[in-house]
Amino acid sequence: MSSSERSPGSPGGLLYVVATPIGNLDDLSERARQVLAKADLVAAEDTRHSGRLLQHLGLSKQMLALHDHNERGRVSQVLEALYRGQSVALVSDAGTPLISDPGYILVREARAAGFKVSPIPGACALVAALSAAGLPTDQFLFSGFLPAKRVGRKTALEGFKQQPATLVFYESPHRIIDFLEDLVEVFGPDRECVLGRELTKAFETFYAGAASEVLAELQADPHGSKGEFVVMVRGAENIPGADASVDADKLLAMLVQELPVKKAARIVADVCGLGKNELYQRALELKGD
Ligand code: SAM
Repeated sequence: MSSSERSPGSPGGLLYVVATPIGNLDDLSERARQVLAKADLVAAEDTRHSGRLLQHLGLSKQMLALHDHNERGRVSQVLEALYRGQSVALVSDAGTPLISDPGYILVREARAAGFKVSPIPGACALVAALSAAGLPTDQFLFSGFLPAKRVGRKTALEGFKQQPATLVFYESPHRIIDFLEDLVEVFGPDRECVLGRELTKAFETFYAGAASEVLAELQADPHGSKGEFVVMVRGAENIPGADASVDADKLLAMLVQELPVKKAARIVADVCGLGKNELYQRALELKGD
């Protein structure tokens, strides 16, 4: 039945978007537990994984697998349950659904069909990481997972280089060293970076410092590239009154032809409100040194 066929005022079910723990089961909220207990259907990214959480809570529920590869097809089944007046809980393997996890199509379609969609907030790795990193949080830009291949990742990083907001990324353990190497190459060795590893779990660790130091620390740590990671990077320096309309790279390219690289970098830093060290590295590149 499509949304237009639904009679106005019909009761309909409710879709709950339920956050689950990112490592520590005690982080499941009481409200999440109650909603899961009352749900007629649990739509889960991985039914076996979420089945274990339900078992831990002493619940036995009808479940439906809804993941990246079948979401479009499964949406109609969830909508049918909602039309029948059932209450559906959407969960992902860990943390908040839709945050680098499936659920976007379902939430959008449920809203479009006129159903109420209600969040049950809780753990989210990016928020947990930011809350304890000591980086500015007044403005941040979350970009989830960057491309897995080096060329794509570096191109994406180039696009974020001048971004003044704190940057937040997710990365898998087998790519974290490559990611940091690319970060150092694109942003320069001095850009402040904080890694949140295994948050809320027994081996929770924060690595903080210049990007090159964080890379070296992780390389030296025998457990460094194990576990789950949130990568946070301080945004590009912004000097009040700086002229954002100037193309920093173009100006730098012109100045390095006429001036010593250090001087060229300092002038562009002052004009554009960007970090001197990064501009110095870029000036060296432009000069071909
Ligand atoms: N929906 C989840 C959330 O709300 O954060 C994110 C799911 S995404 C598929 C998984 C990624 O989140 C991991 O690869 C890692 O980058 C990050 N992540 C999840 N749990 C984490 C943890 N306990 N510590 C650090 N990062 C974590």
